[in-house]
Amino acid sequence: MDRRHRLAQQDCDHVWHPYASIVDPPLATTIVSADGVRLYTAEGQALIDGMSSWWAAIHGYNHPVLNNAAHGQIDRMSHVMFGGITHEPAVALASMLVDLTPEPLQKVFFADSGSVSVEVAIKMAVQYWHGMGCPEKNRFLTVRSGYHGDTFGAMALCDPVTGMHEHFTSVLQQHYFAESPGCRFDESWDDAYIQDFRQLMEAHHQQLAAVVLEPIVQGAGGMRFYSPEYLRQVKMLCEAHDVLLVADEIATGFGRTGELFACNYAGISPDIMCLGKALTGGYMTLAATLATDRVSRGISKNGGVLMHGPTFMANPLACAVAEASIRLLLNGPWRESVHRIEQRLLSGLAPCRGFSGVADVRALGAIGVVEMKTPVDLAAVQKQFVNQGVWIRPFGKLIYTMPPYIISDDDLDFLTRAIVRVAGSL
Ligand SMILES: *Cc1c(COP(=O)(O)O)cnc(C)c1O
Repeated sequence: MDRRHRLAQQDCDHVWHPYASIVDPPLATTIVSADGVRLYTAEGQALIDGMSSWWAAIHGYNHPVLNNAAHGQIDRMSHVMFGGITHEPAVALASMLVDLTPEPLQKVFFADSGSVSVEVAIKMAVQYWHGMGCPEKNRFLTVRSGYHGDTFGAMALCDPVTGMHEHFTSVLQQHYFAESPGCRFDESWDDAYIQDFRQLMEAHHQQLAAVVLEPIVQGAGGMRFYSPEYLRQVKMLCEAHDVLLVADEIATGFGRTGELFACNYAGISPDIMCLGKALTGGYMTLAATLATDRVSRGISKNGGVLMHGPTFMANPLACAVAEASIRLLLNGPWRESVHRIEQRLLSGLAPCRGFSGVADVRALGAIGVVEMKTPVDLAAVQKQFVNQGVWIRPFGKLIYTMPPYIISDDDLDFLTRAIVRVAGSL
């Protein structure tokens, strides 16, 4: 057996992959290097990356600026504990995040993954109301089709049908779920769209610590794009009923939707915001939970402190790369790139509308979605895409792409042509 096959065999024998069987594992594609928008397989094939490694690699791979930032920091100090210690990469990154996000967000907690940043947001909301003398406000209201992560607190806020609840019913906290936002991104507003949410808010606000949702784009829970007016209505109802608003911008942050943060479409500011995924440009794991002065003061009442502190909190290496990644983003034409990608995804994917198996085709920012009428056979479809030289990983009925912002028109056309061919064959 050559090395390549031995590696694949050992992977099958011992290594768990996300949401995958360990006894009958699907064969994984071995990637040996990556550069720009291309992933290189052990067989020497180049795949154009349509996933940005799950929303993260917005600048593509092996970027000289990010490599430099990582090298520079690793030669000084790759990690140091954050209890009682601070360092320049964390402080610089926190200041940058405070400057970029809506003005009321002033305090930054660095977490080690998106899910953990959602756990921290939940703790902040619960501790806030505890500090304010309302410990009964400890429930959450969210919308269906959401995704907020795989840890228990976050999972309890994921869509109850598609979001793993059945496996953990007895262990999960029970929260309130409104219908998923029915008003599409470009659709004109009708008050009926917020009715279910409003009723739940009116009925339960005395128990509610916060509303948690993904602004504008619901990601892994269905790749749905909804109206900014829905978000404005949610914000108004939160204010009217004294309930905090948590915006999970882990997937949408850093330009993916066409605005730097999706909340900007609605011109609203949440009380707590979660960031992750593209924060380090996809180089390593890092997330952040931002809070307003109001929230942080409430938590701190009577000497209260936020009860969280991961071992690798504010990892200097990740913070240094994140700062470089954000600088790179802001100094470049990200808005034009994302707009160009949106237009090209819309035209490139349009032929899918004619296929009998396709239910819907949509794009917003650098996100393109072909929704099929029935779930696709993941293993078979994945293989078809690899044979065509692209990396696309569908889930359920959704074939979708969110390429790195640096993708060229030619590479993007190559990607959409592959999607059209595969969707047409199903
Ligand atoms: C991916 C994601 C998370 C979870 O982040 P991890 O880094 O995978 O833990 C949470 N919320 C949203 C909206 C996400 O897209």
